[in-house]
Amino acid sequence: MTNQTPAVDAVPTAPLPPATILGYPRIGPDRELKRAVEAHWRGDLDVNALRERAAALRAATRAHLRELGLTGASAVPADFTYYDQVLQVTTALGALPRRFADLRAGAGADPDGRSGAAPGAHPGTSLPGFFTAARGEGERAALEMTKWFDSNYHYLVPELDESTPIDYVPGFGAVDPTDGPAAQVLEALAAGEEAPRPVVVGPVTYLLLAKASDAAAPGFRPLDRLADVLDAYGHLLADLWAAGAQWVQLDEPALVCDAWDVPREEVLAAAADAYTWIAAIAERPRVLVAGTYGPLGDALPVLAATGVEAIGLDLVAGELPPAADLARLGGKTVVAGVVSGRNIWRTDLGAALAVLESLRGALPETASVVVATSTSLQHVPHDADRETSLPDDVRSWLAFADQKVAEVRTLAVGLARGRQAIAGELTADARLRAARAAHPGVRREEVRAAVAAVTDADRTRAPYAERAAAQAARLRLPLLPTTTIGSFPQTAEVRAARAAHRRGGLDDAGYQAAMRAEIERVVRLQEEIGLDVLVHGEAERNDMVQYFAELLDGFAATEHGWVQSYGSRCTRPSILWGDVSRPAPMTVAWSAYAQSLTDRPMKGMLTGPVTIMAWSFVRDDIPRAQVADQLGLALRAEVADLEAAGIPVVQVDEPAIRETLPLRRADRPAYLEWSVGAFRLATGGAAPATQIHTHLCYSEFDVVIDAVDHLDADVTSIEASRSRMDILPAVAAHGFERQLGPGVWDIHSPRVPSTDECAELLRRAVAALGIEKLWANPDCGLKTRAYAETVSSLRHLVAAARRVRAGA
Ligand code: GLN
Ligand code: ZN
Repeated sequence: MTNQTPAVDAVPTAPLPPATILGYPRIGPDRELKRAVEAHWRGDLDVNALRERAAALRAATRAHLRELGLTGASAVPADFTYYDQVLQVTTALGALPRRFADLRAGAGADPDGRSGAAPGAHPGTSLPGFFTAARGEGERAALEMTKWFDSNYHYLVPELDESTPIDYVPGFGAVDPTDGPAAQVLEALAAGEEAPRPVVVGPVTYLLLAKASDAAAPGFRPLDRLADVLDAYGHLLADLWAAGAQWVQLDEPALVCDAWDVPREEVLAAAADAYTWIAAIAERPRVLVAGTYGPLGDALPVLAATGVEAIGLDLVAGELPPAADLARLGGKTVVAGVVSGRNIWRTDLGAALAVLESLRGALPETASVVVATSTSLQHVPHDADRETSLPDDVRSWLAFADQKVAEVRTLAVGLARGRQAIAGELTADARLRAARAAHPGVRREEVRAAVAAVTDADRTRAPYAERAAAQAARLRLPLLPTTTIGSFPQTAEVRAARAAHRRGGLDDAGYQAAMRAEIERVVRLQEEIGLDVLVHGEAERNDMVQYFAELLDGFAATEHGWVQSYGSRCTRPSILWGDVSRPAPMTVAWSAYAQSLTDRPMKGMLTGPVTIMAWSFVRDDIPRAQVADQLGLALRAEVADLEAAGIPVVQVDEPAIRETLPLRRADRPAYLEWSVGAFRLATGGAAPATQIHTHLCYSEFDVVIDAVDHLDADVTSIEASRSRMDILPAVAAHGFERQLGPGVWDIHSPRVPSTDECAELLRRAVAALGIEKLWANPDCGLKTRAYAETVSSLRHLVAAARRVRAGA
């Protein structure tokens, strides 16, 4: 790396304005970006038209944010990307994996000029190339996708090794065909606006989120490439500076997490190196390093010792840092994230102002405070005022992105001019808060009493040996029993029937008949294929969480509350606003009907408490542990009704248990205690002869293996085929006593695994764990697959199980 001499004079002087946000939803209020991008993928919108639409959306967003009060240079974030903020950096650094070498910036001209880049300019990675890396193409697998910190957003994982090129192309920003941060600054300035503040994933976080490529030498860690990445970021910052950015925001949420494979001291040393080096660059915008999704902890003094001009603190997920750490922030701007970027509830303005006042009181005189959100608002929908079909009172408690911008503004006024300056807002907020607390659905004494009456015995089943014997006698399953994870392909007819029923075009009787016909078809198919434990296929479920949210009390659904999940994929989480109860059975009629069609055991299908919470917007007024137990009790009643209806096997899915694991190790035991406890509450009433299954996916099973063991399910199915059962030795070493179904078919791809392949995976599993404990099943549900590949794959899976059973 080339270390420039600091030239303080060259650093601009405009301070950050008193109110800002760390990011804003990029999909557009009516999912304009999703529509445009998908139209482009379908071939209905050419690249230039797509870029025009994106530019129009960005311009509208900037204008909207100014109207909402984010005025002054650098107040508005420039955080647009067509797909993902991490992929945006990967392409800017030219660091695409080898299989996409032809797409790298500088890999050659863009022959048909499809990138839309200025003629003669360096083309960079074209927009079609950017999408190819994101989505894959033929044999070239897409970049892996995984969850961004403890959120529901998925990013594309960089793949690095010793020889991955990492070189930012000078001038790339100005003609960037992916409309990256420098282009966004230029575009705003050209429109006569103040410069927005580019938002870029910071170098340390970028590397910690990366994985070693398959070609990497043993022991290689992406963080080993820090010097190269810093060099590239130096060019990026120079470009941003040349484009006219006065400030840049570098997001470093990785610093709040202490659970990386890299030891903490090395993470802190990397942060110190990175920001000392960056601060020393002569020609650059001022730098805001944002520590989001939790407290910076011991990374705060490290950043404080560098020359960065501003540090962002998440004061929602984290507490106010110790006074001694704050005392070291003289001369810096503290960007105080007191408005949550993660939830959809109004901020307690009085409490947030008190935090801001304490912060200012603890900071040296030379430090200044800017009011902000705790994270980007990319995790929340645009505008709660549009949710006119919600009950008025529930709507009045909500703050989506636009309302949060207003809150940030209000708090900035309050901090600058005193409480009396925002007295009206404080009173209105307190009134709404009191009304919310007093709402009859928010606190229901019967629900509270039921949770208070829960004892450890309610979370404890008979000893496993007793259960196993009772289940074996009842179910009479072969060795290596075969099953699926629950959903079968959702055909166009099934979707059409659900949609027609929802719109009123299909009456209840017609809908019931359509679903029953589908269930019958799925049951007959499974019998014919020869599966041992059957499922009803989940045709009636649009989504495994929303289905339950619609049937439980305490939830509401939004109309426009979309948030980006990944790429063009958006979800509309339900709002869990009140005490939860189950007014009536939710799944029993479908499962009982399915069981009536067959002599084979039918598996009832429920979504577990942690997953329901992880994929909803959860109330912030009571502890999550209590919400989880309310859900646990509702599901417990459902399990009891399934049992009463003669269902011998019940699966309670908890695919989200890993993703909401806290980022700091110290917070994990408490989380695992309540999440495991809620699952056990849901399942703890089941008779010994009822077999309880659970299902987890998204790999990384090893991180939570202990907790999964404590779920005390009789059978646990996990994703394992992509990693070729790599996880099983760890499972064996851990001493997992109960039964396990490691997936033998990667359902994320349309590829049909052969019988040989499935058998080979099963043999590996048998070698690690012994045949008695094992099941044969796919990695996950089949709802995204088509029937043709499903039928062949399941036939192969069943044939493989038979072969391995026979000892072949
Ligand atoms: N039972 C669900 C299904 O089969 C599980 C899905 C999941 O794990 N995400 O679709
Ligand atoms: Zn799954």
